Amino acid sequence: MLERVPLLEKSLDEYATVVEPGTIERIRELAAPLRGARVLHVNATAYGGGVAELLATHVALSRDIGLEADWQVIHGSDEFFGVTKSVHNALQGADVEWTTQSERIYLERVVENALLLEGEWDYVVIHDPQPAAIREYVRGRAVDMPGTKWIWRCHIDLTDANPTVWDFFQPFVEQYDAAVFTMPQFVPSSLSMDCIEHLPPCIDPISLKNLEMPPAFVDEICRSYGIRPNRPLIVQVSRFDPWKDPIGVIEAYRIVREEFPDAELVLAGSMATDDPEGFHYWELTNDARAGDPQIHLLSNIQQVGSIQINAFQRAADVVLQKSLREGFGLTVSEALWKGRPVVGGRAGGITLQIEDGVNGYLVDSREEAAARTIELLRNPEKADAMGAAGAEHVRRNFLSTRELEDWLRLFHRLSHTS
Ligand code: UDP
Repeated sequence: MLERVPLLEKSLDEYATVVEPGTIERIRELAAPLRGARVLHVNATAYGGGVAELLATHVALSRDIGLEADWQVIHGSDEFFGVTKSVHNALQGADVEWTTQSERIYLERVVENALLLEGEWDYVVIHDPQPAAIREYVRGRAVDMPGTKWIWRCHIDLTDANPTVWDFFQPFVEQYDAAVFTMPQFVPSSLSMDCIEHLPPCIDPISLKNLEMPPAFVDEICRSYGIRPNRPLIVQVSRFDPWKDPIGVIEAYRIVREEFPDAELVLAGSMATDDPEGFHYWELTNDARAGDPQIHLLSNIQQVGSIQINAFQRAADVVLQKSLREGFGLTVSEALWKGRPVVGGRAGGITLQIEDGVNGYLVDSREEAAARTIELLRNPEKADAMGAAGAEHVRRNFLSTRELEDWLRLFHRLSHTS
């Protein structure tokens, strides 16, 4: 069997005070005919990164509304995750070397995992490229039951996918009953499937990462990491990855320092188990930091978990998400939900979340990121008003309940297809 991820307990009713009126009732109505449906989510990691963050809430809420939902992760190896990280990079547009050796390393692991996939499921949702080919290799096995609907959920931006790598993956993807993308723009034109859906991710407003936190608590957490709460604070929360441009963030911050010499920067990024490049980019970022005590480079290694991220996002005067490519960027909604304005790279899912000039700014360069950050630091009232607009945008569009509802609708549609 694949490794099961321990699940939290969540209750949909607890979201009633946060979400739009009528939401809970609509979800319960949609869930009633699906009561007892067996739903399995499979991804590559139980910790670190947006997919793990999403599934922790989504699977727990699915159980609360009567689905028999489960979450399992594939077994990898350093070599396998090295290859799948190149796949991730290639599918986001990087020029990587893709060889028959890469294909072999990838497929051998997927076959091993396919052999471990067990149980009887009505819906199997496979997340991202790491386990994508598993659909092919379960054929003829007990888990491949006639009525099961197989769904591939792609969280990354394929707009500029490396053709060689996408040509390898496309035939595996086309074996699914449905593919789900964050935005219509991400769907490759060559993809031929009957059911292609668009469904942006969401944040959990009552998770430890997003729950309200008293200001004194926020200050104390910041102090415990050496961050001085009274100084202008700029925060980016991201894995250490070139697409998140941490070095660009440092360069933008240095421009901001010319006008705000006491400003501090927090770069917080967890090390995901399926991201072998993390340590390398941590070191490159640390080199760029050049020992500057006003730049705080933090990660789960220094016990930065959900509560600390919550505090840093709340303490920020401006949140940056200077990604060059971004599937969605949960960190943007997380910050907006806390009433902070976000200066984000004009990339993928960030453009769904930031309404330019309303709840933050979309930027195309380090200089622009710096200029917008300076503008917000100079105008704290404007920053607060933008943050408030952002919280409302997130409430309407990017909370867990909306995503849950979208998935239930998709299951309904698929249950009517042969
Ligand atoms: N995150 C975290 N600790 C960190 C860095 C990131 O908990 O040190 C979380 C972050 O708050 C967000 C998720 O990891 O919930 C990252 O998701 P996102 O969609 O922004 O990016 P991804 O890593 O999936 O590319």
